[in-house]
Amino acid sequence: MSLRARLTTAFLVVVLGPVLVGAIFVGVIVTAVSDTRTAEQLERASVMVESTIGTACERIQTSAATMALAHSHTGEDVAGEIAQLIVQRDIADSVVVDNGDSKHFYGAAMPNGVHAVCDEPIPQAASQGAIVALSATGELQDSEGNLIATYTATRLVNQNFLDQLARATDSHLTLIDGRDPPLTAGISDTEEDFITADSVLPIHIGVPASSMAPMYWTLASMVAISAICAVALAAWLSRSTTRPLTDLSEATRRVADGNLESRVPVRGRDEVAHLATRFNQMTMQLQRYVQALTSSRDQIRGQLKRLGQTLSSTLDLDRILEVILETAIVSTSASAGLIVLVDVDDPDLLVQRAGEGELGIDDVVRVRIGHGILGGIAAAGKPFRGRIVEGETGGYVRVAGEPRASTMIAVPFTGSGPGGTALEHVPVGNTLGVLVLYNRYGGQEFNSSDLQTLGTFAKQASVAVENVLLHRQAERLSLTDPLTGLWNYRFLQVSLQREIDRVRRFNRPSALLAIDLDHFKAVNDTYGHPVGDQVLAEVARRLNAQIRDVDSAFRQGGEEFMVLLPETNTAGANTVAERLSQAVSSQPFTVRLPGDKQSIQLNITISLGIAVFGEHGSNTGEIISAADNALYAAKSAGRDTWRVAQAH
Ligand code: GH3
Ligand code: MG
Ligand code: MG
Repeated sequence: MSLRARLTTAFLVVVLGPVLVGAIFVGVIVTAVSDTRTAEQLERASVMVESTIGTACERIQTSAATMALAHSHTGEDVAGEIAQLIVQRDIADSVVVDNGDSKHFYGAAMPNGVHAVCDEPIPQAASQGAIVALSATGELQDSEGNLIATYTATRLVNQNFLDQLARATDSHLTLIDGRDPPLTAGISDTEEDFITADSVLPIHIGVPASSMAPMYWTLASMVAISAICAVALAAWLSRSTTRPLTDLSEATRRVADGNLESRVPVRGRDEVAHLATRFNQMTMQLQRYVQALTSSRDQIRGQLKRLGQTLSSTLDLDRILEVILETAIVSTSASAGLIVLVDVDDPDLLVQRAGEGELGIDDVVRVRIGHGILGGIAAAGKPFRGRIVEGETGGYVRVAGEPRASTMIAVPFTGSGPGGTALEHVPVGNTLGVLVLYNRYGGQEFNSSDLQTLGTFAKQASVAVENVLLHRQAERLSLTDPLTGLWNYRFLQVSLQREIDRVRRFNRPSALLAIDLDHFKAVNDTYGHPVGDQVLAEVARRLNAQIRDVDSAFRQGGEEFMVLLPETNTAGANTVAERLSQAVSSQPFTVRLPGDKQSIQLNITISLGIAVFGEHGSNTGEIISAADNALYAAKSAGRDTWRVAQAH
């Protein structure tokens, strides 16, 4: 049963119930009162009929007695005169005098039928025939008790008599004397009830029927109108009550379906309107929250994308660490953080390689494993989170140089692979570094979910760090040139191929520089091959010092070098070429002559050719020959300069 139906029913029961009960009560009371009134009327009419008949009887009885008395005292003649007088005065309708010998009749002729005798019980009319008169007899006896004469006075019981009786009692009278149809008089519209008057005549009395029908109709109409009004009111009330709830339920369904734009119309100022307002506020809050969540998710996605791109596109460890740190900070709402890695030359020392946010650190963090908070966490090799109180947290005590933060979360990362890391210098506990974040926004402590997030980043960091370190190590061991320490020709080929693949995939610029020493043969010829070697080593050092970590310098062979510049276009490559050229030519080379320990200074210059991937070549052969051609162009232009390759 719906709420609406329940409300309607409840309202109808509450309103119509009392109306119906009231109507029934009124009906019953009115009927009872009416019955009582009718009974009283009947009673009254009955008494009146009895008294009227009684009076008639008394008159004829008195008449009969008077005549008998007159006869005894004054003779029969006077009695006859009195009889005449009685009839004339209408005291009786007729008088019969019976003196034994003869009968004398005075007044109206007496029809045949039964006489109801006053003071005697009601004649059984049906058996004796129609009652035609009331009669009373006065007897005259002599001193011995012999009957001398009887005087009978009668009153005709006819239509006239009954009419008079009915008028006097304002009722309907029926003479029950076996006549068919019976003799009736008085008003016709009467109650069905009858009573038999306790009198000489058997008369049934009817009193006017008090009709209850109009009253019942009025009552029924009032109940019907009340019912119609109540139903209409109940329908309106339940509709107006349930409609906001229906709206609310509809809106809730829409919100549940994901439509957070949905709002409930607020009608009036009642409790449901308050509920609707609160619902709208809640939905708006939810919408804002979802928007914030979506934007935060987009931000994290963006960060992860950058992270992925960076990890796959660069060998710049510091850049990788920066991006990992940045992503970790954004993901956990930290206000600062840093990454420390074991030092390549001193695996017992942790050195900061990336840092972000306000930490109040003066210098780059450097802590020994086992010392301070970071060193302690690295030594334990277990993630940690907590609040730092007076420089102490979880049994670790801050040492000089460590950030003065109030909350922190840290995850150490270790080398992987069978038997631990394959790195040359294995650090204590196989720890490669620690990713640590400080001061969560809002002053709250970092939670377990942050720890989980950070664990993911630490894993990525450890993989990236280890890969880079292993990579560097492997390359150094097999792909470097012993004289200069630069990458060798073999690795140049590999690197070029990899760069071409990357350039194609990401559509990023990349440049290659071909470098050749000017008039180097003369150095060899003048000072000998070993001096030439010293020059080559110094040129390599100067070139290496000028390029970024993502750039690579190669010794192609003899006194020819190549520099690979990822993410560099022609303009950038020109700048680098100029810088490299300056780095070689601006300072004279100090070399030791073989044999004695004498040092001399030499001025060395280089020529450079620039080729850009895509523009000047699309495979390793093309790009190398484009750079070589540009180099020859620089040589032709007089050396100590650089040229850009011709577009192919
Ligand atoms: P250019 O300006 O035209 O380049 O003149 P150049 O004298 O430098 O001519 P070129 O490039 O042809 O000279 C190559 C010389 O480099 C030949 C060789 O004596 C010298 N050379 C090649 N490899 C080595 C090496 O490993 N050590 C030494 N000391 N010299 C080398
Ligand atoms: Mg050469
Ligand atoms: Mg040369």
